[in-house]
Amino acid sequence: MQTDFLIVGGGAVGLTSAYALLQSGYSVTLVERGTIGREASWAGGGILSPLCPWDYREAVTRLTLHGMAMFGEAADLLHATTGIDPEYQRSGMLLLPPYQNVLASRWCVRHQFAMQSVKLADYLSGLGESARQETGLLLPEVAQVRNPRLLRALRKRVEMLGGAIIEQQDVQKFEIAGDRVVALHTSEGKLSADAYIVAAGAWSKTLLGEHALGMDIRPIRGQILLFKFDAPPFLQILLKENLYFIPRRDGHVLVGSTLEDAGFDKSTTTEARVSLLQRVREIFPGWQQMPVQHWAGLRPGSPDNIPTIGRHPHLTNLYANSGHFRYGVTMSLASAELLLNEIEGLPQPYSVKEYRWN
Ligand SMILES: Cc1cc2nc3c(=O)[nH]c(=O)nc-3n(C[C@H](O)[C@H](O)[C@H](O)COP(=O)(O)OP(=O)(O)OC[C@H]3O[C@@H](n4cnc5c(N)ncnc54)[C@H](O)[C@@H]3O)c2cc1C
Repeated sequence: MQTDFLIVGGGAVGLTSAYALLQSGYSVTLVERGTIGREASWAGGGILSPLCPWDYREAVTRLTLHGMAMFGEAADLLHATTGIDPEYQRSGMLLLPPYQNVLASRWCVRHQFAMQSVKLADYLSGLGESARQETGLLLPEVAQVRNPRLLRALRKRVEMLGGAIIEQQDVQKFEIAGDRVVALHTSEGKLSADAYIVAAGAWSKTLLGEHALGMDIRPIRGQILLFKFDAPPFLQILLKENLYFIPRRDGHVLVGSTLEDAGFDKSTTTEARVSLLQRVREIFPGWQQMPVQHWAGLRPGSPDNIPTIGRHPHLTNLYANSGHFRYGVTMSLASAELLLNEIEGLPQPYSVKEYRWN
């Protein structure tokens, strides 16, 4: 089998990279250790924004705003071409106090991002007594998708465009000759291509071994509880400090998430379940529902949440698209575009210095 690009990892980042390359006429094979779209990208909440965007460096802002701007149209196109609806919706995000009003206002003005101060009681019922009198911060432009649907749609689109997908094949080693990768050694044998892209999420650094160089990516576990209501109990994504609630159209509500340094351990814990539930009930004292599901995923944690996108410093046909940490779904389409620009030697829409592989 000969292909222009071999992509390692079938999460949101690998799939969107494949999609961008296929649209530009390259042949692509995507190799995945397990099943496509079942790791962090499946486990995530699908909020298409950083939680408090003003908490992050400009390198995160640029990439997330770019990704957010691409999502609506891309989701419509995926829906129209594959028949699978990723359920993109601009539900807005409502921040409950305390939040940094001055920083938030400055950031929103600077980035022309809509914000409104609103009375919480106009948007939410069931709040505790004191919260009912309080003001919240509404970011009406924040959107969401349903990750499992997005991933299924992306997979189908990649296949429709002629991309080859190999599952249940673990990439174990890079075979190098001179300044080039010549093959991937996998659990089933060898795979080769003209160029290689590592999009293996939390596992990217481990997989690359000595070739990782300055890439700093480690797994950060996140746990989410899923609740089910007959109808959505509220319409906006809610955020109180670092706890979020994501209402889906069908009455499901995701509540998360934890940020845990637990190595590659993906188990759920009673401690997280109890603590998340307790925090839910502090905000909504009358909340009776018990979780219908509880899961965990491993984020590809990177310093300052800045991913590595681009060519290896020494190996001329090896690229990375890894380390998107808390916002890999939000960043995915934009990140794939930056990678494609680099591959084709096209100008970038903004400085990409901070994403470079050193
Ligand atoms: C609880 C939680 C909530 C989140 N919420 C949000 C959110 O609301 N919004 C947002 O934008 N982001 C969110 N994220 C972050 C987001 O999910 C990640 O940044 C994103 O999914 C990373 O995508 P990825 O494709 O790099 O990684 P993954 O989805 O983990 O994909 C990597 C793939 O590589 C494969 N792989 C690894 N090693 C090998 C190998 N050796 N050989 C072959 N295949 C291999 C894995 O099996 C996996 O399928 C959340 C994450 C978690 C865990």
